[in-house]
Amino acid sequence: MSAQKTNQVEYDLCIIGSGPAGIIVGLEYSLANPHHKVLLVEFGSDQPTGKNSLDNSIRNMNPLNHHNPYETTNKGIGGSTASWGGRCVMFDEVDFIERPVHGGGCTWDLTILQELRQHTERAAGYFECGRPVFNLNEYAQFKGARIAEYFEEGDVTDSVLERWSMPTRFGQRYSKELAELSNLTLMESHEVREFSKPDNEGNVNWISVRKVGSAKWIRIKAKAFVISAGTQETTRLLLRNKQLFSRLKAVPAALGKYYQGHISGKIATVKFYGNPKKTDYGFIRDTDGTYLRRRFQFSKEFLLKQNLLNAAIWLDNPLYFDPKHRSGAMSFMYLAMLIPFLGKRLAPPAIAHSITKGKRNEVRKHFFNVIKDLPASLAKPAAIFYKRYCLKRKLPGVFLYSPQNNYALHFHAEQVPDEKSRMVLGADGETLEIHYSINDIDIQSVILLHEALDSWLRKCGCGELQFWYKKEELAEAIRNMSCDGIHQTGTTRMADTPELGVVDRNLKLWGTSNVYVCSCSVFPTSGQANPTFLLGAFAVRLSRYLTSKVPKIHQDKQYA
Ligand SMILES: Cc1cc2nc3c(=O)[nH]c(=O)nc-3n(C[C@H](O)[C@H](O)[C@H](O)COP(=O)(O)OP(=O)(O)OC[C@H]3O[C@@H](n4cnc5c(N)ncnc54)[C@H](O)[C@@H]3O)c2cc1C
Repeated sequence: MSAQKTNQVEYDLCIIGSGPAGIIVGLEYSLANPHHKVLLVEFGSDQPTGKNSLDNSIRNMNPLNHHNPYETTNKGIGGSTASWGGRCVMFDEVDFIERPVHGGGCTWDLTILQELRQHTERAAGYFECGRPVFNLNEYAQFKGARIAEYFEEGDVTDSVLERWSMPTRFGQRYSKELAELSNLTLMESHEVREFSKPDNEGNVNWISVRKVGSAKWIRIKAKAFVISAGTQETTRLLLRNKQLFSRLKAVPAALGKYYQGHISGKIATVKFYGNPKKTDYGFIRDTDGTYLRRRFQFSKEFLLKQNLLNAAIWLDNPLYFDPKHRSGAMSFMYLAMLIPFLGKRLAPPAIAHSITKGKRNEVRKHFFNVIKDLPASLAKPAAIFYKRYCLKRKLPGVFLYSPQNNYALHFHAEQVPDEKSRMVLGADGETLEIHYSINDIDIQSVILLHEALDSWLRKCGCGELQFWYKKEELAEAIRNMSCDGIHQTGTTRMADTPELGVVDRNLKLWGTSNVYVCSCSVFPTSGQANPTFLLGAFAVRLSRYLTSKVPKIHQDKQYA
């Protein structure tokens, strides 16, 4: 390291990383504490570059089940919301209750959920996803309306909602607000590398920051630090800075371990018996225009009794790449995705891959579908294109009506916190090796939940599942189809002791008095939910907690 200049300003709060977590903490804290000096350090800039040294130094050890680094995160103001889908989902109570299936890995509890619920309204404002109502039964106009004719709620539910953000790109959306804050300084194109060793009181007094692409280093002093660099970079920073734990007997054993995402894919079609026109297969609009969608989930009591992992299963289109669906519109959209320059513009690589499966499959038959369905095969995609790319609140996805009342089912399921699934530093002390795994319990749980859904639908006289694979082939099929890396959780989990976790329930790093982690990496369990909405609630909670520690005399503006 070359000689470091020390920045003369001592900041009250230094936030590392400007993804949604860093931006929410930055805005909330700066507004509440206008006389405090806040620094937001970001590796990227608002001019995204092609390659970067962080993603270049990641080794993905399981390319079958984990996307490559450039597909899993974005660097720059707004972080990975530059390409996220915007699906906002709330975690369920069951995710906070230890079950034997978690093997002792559920190190948070229901009090955390109760506290987070107090911050969902504020978080929903940042995500622009309407009111934080996540159950359709709470809407008077939908009470009693079901996903399909004859369906009844019980072990299986159909009223839990996903809400959709614009999708809000935090960089574009909040750059102006960040710039307008006179007490917040944004430092782009700087990588935080090193933390000072905590002093006797546990205070970390400075960090070292390197200007990206140069040998220029700056030392920055602050009274408190929030690491919000996204799961993989937060984990790498901590793995590289083990002196942060020097006041503990040992580095927390959980650091880097229990890496989870979601296993997802399709293994069955649902055939509903009732009137196809009564099937609620698409989006619902809230009064403010927010897109909502229902999904099948399983009751808390059922999951606890059966000791199964959580999952959501939603109605989907048949596989795009298989021309047997005979839909001209779907074939047209599949062919468009295959064109390299167009495909990249239509969806981020990880999402495009989930549609094409990386296959160039039976192109002639797809053309035949398109021609046979003209003009609808062009008119439908044109209408979808307009709603999805030209409006401010974008159509989040495409779900097509089935006159046969048959829908593919897409599962999105929890994983066991498994210590074999982990992030470690390579021998050079720089490379981050990602060892992501899907274990047998994850897979069996998905199969058993599909069987439970099938039994429930038959019991209601509502429908049945038709599996795409023989029973003995299901496990392998799931293992081969599932690919994540975009919902990264678990590697700096929260727990009440440093023996079990890396941060405490206020997100403070064990062994320090003033370093906090605000990232999905603090989630001990992954539930069925996409994680970013809950992260937003954590970010609001953390900034309020930090503000509560500021002597009242300095707080000259209270929250709205
Ligand atoms: C294709 C795709 C689709 C997704 N869809 C959804 C969805 O629909 N719903 C959902 O809930 N989630 C979704 N996600 C996940 C979501 O984007 C992330 O959960 C979320 O962005 C995490 O926020 P964060 O602030 O923790 O980290 P990030 O958004 O990753 O931001 C971290 C920031 O920190 C910066 N940084 C890293 N290291 C350093 C360092 N050493 N010094 C300074 N700065 C640093 C990075 O450059 C980055 O800008 C999706 C992700 C992808 C890639």
